[in-house]
Amino acid sequence: MRDSLTLLEIPTPAYVLEEEKLNHNLRILDSIQQQSGAKILLALKGYAFWRRFDTLKHTLSGSTASGLYEARLGYEEIGGRVATQTQHHHTQSKEICVFSPAYKESEFESILEYATHIIFNSFDQWQKFKPLIDSKNQALLAQNLSLIEVGLRVNPLYSEVEPPIYNPCVAGSRLGITPQAFEEGVKQYGIEGIDGLHFHTHCEQDSAALSRTLPHFEKHFGIYLKNKKWVNFGGGHHITREDYDCELLIHLIKDFKQRYDDIEVFLEPGEAVGWQVGFLIGEVIDIVQNEMNIAILDASAAAHMPDCLEMPYRPNLCKLSKNGDIESDKGANIAKYTYRLGGPTCLAGDVIGDYSFDTPLLVGDKIIFEDMLHYTIVKNNTFNGIPLPSLGVIDTNGKFEVLKSFDYTDYKQRN
Ligand SMILES: *Cc1c(COP(=O)(O)O)cnc(C)c1O
Repeated sequence: MRDSLTLLEIPTPAYVLEEEKLNHNLRILDSIQQQSGAKILLALKGYAFWRRFDTLKHTLSGSTASGLYEARLGYEEIGGRVATQTQHHHTQSKEICVFSPAYKESEFESILEYATHIIFNSFDQWQKFKPLIDSKNQALLAQNLSLIEVGLRVNPLYSEVEPPIYNPCVAGSRLGITPQAFEEGVKQYGIEGIDGLHFHTHCEQDSAALSRTLPHFEKHFGIYLKNKKWVNFGGGHHITREDYDCELLIHLIKDFKQRYDDIEVFLEPGEAVGWQVGFLIGEVIDIVQNEMNIAILDASAAAHMPDCLEMPYRPNLCKLSKNGDIESDKGANIAKYTYRLGGPTCLAGDVIGDYSFDTPLLVGDKIIFEDMLHYTIVKNNTFNGIPLPSLGVIDTNGKFEVLKSFDYTDYKQRN
């Protein structure tokens, strides 16, 4: 529940987590884990709001990392491997699944400190780093810790994702080993020592897309699953979206596990964890006229909501007047008062879109951009030297708290 007095307290610009909404997503994800037997990992790439991982780290089975920094963050804030005999409910073992299109030698040993699963994008990289993994595993064995498991990312040559910039199966894609390259790799190196396979071919998709993808994956790679321990179905499953078909997902996972000797299944959503769990709030600083009314905010599409320009997409929003009235936008040019909303940078295209309301928008009003926690904080920037939005939370009691604010030093130090 949003209370306008609480909203008026929030300094702008700020990203605000609504903790109850995150908990709602976590309950859905947990029930998928319980009913399907799959393990769900948070893809930190899409959602890394670690200051409020308290419930998340007890619910999800671990994290997915794209490299050293995310692996370390996952280890520090969600957890990693724990000696079997010391496991109890406070120190549960968590998975940290790392995939990078190519690992650098200078980082690899540090990654092994955190990774429980390491996934390669080529047979050559696997062979190159095999000795390091083997020696790390000997050390882990001596300490009674679980060993690092090794996987390969494959390209099943099938993905329904549009546009092509988000499709890992487009012609010439560098992501995942193609069936032909896989066959050649197996001929050269065998697949002994490979514990599992990984594919990631979805983006904001329903379980029906997974049901159409699995046959392609199995056609090309099913024969290699004999004696393997796990398959990672990647991210992009829009599980927490209201109309997502969870029953079908559960059925597909159970059916898959049954056909492959109870193989372990991983899902690694980012967006579905941070889906509709909070907002970005900005303030109207000025209103200018050029054929229409144009409001200039202290929140920017280019710096704070980059996907609005990259995807591109149009966020839903509402305005909050100084007296606490809240009005949702009615769509462009529908209600009486229309405004183009733009950011404070010099980029001509730093425009969020055109929005209309029944009442006029005034300088000093606040704008609440909905669903702005995933793929925003992890991608924002200090272009034009404009301040980074603060990070805040509205907790389950409805109380607002600033968790982190940024200042000049954050800008200076990254230049
Ligand atoms: C991006 C990505 C994810 C998370 O995808 P979402 O769309 O945020 O669920 C998971 N795994 C891999 C390999 C990815 O590249």
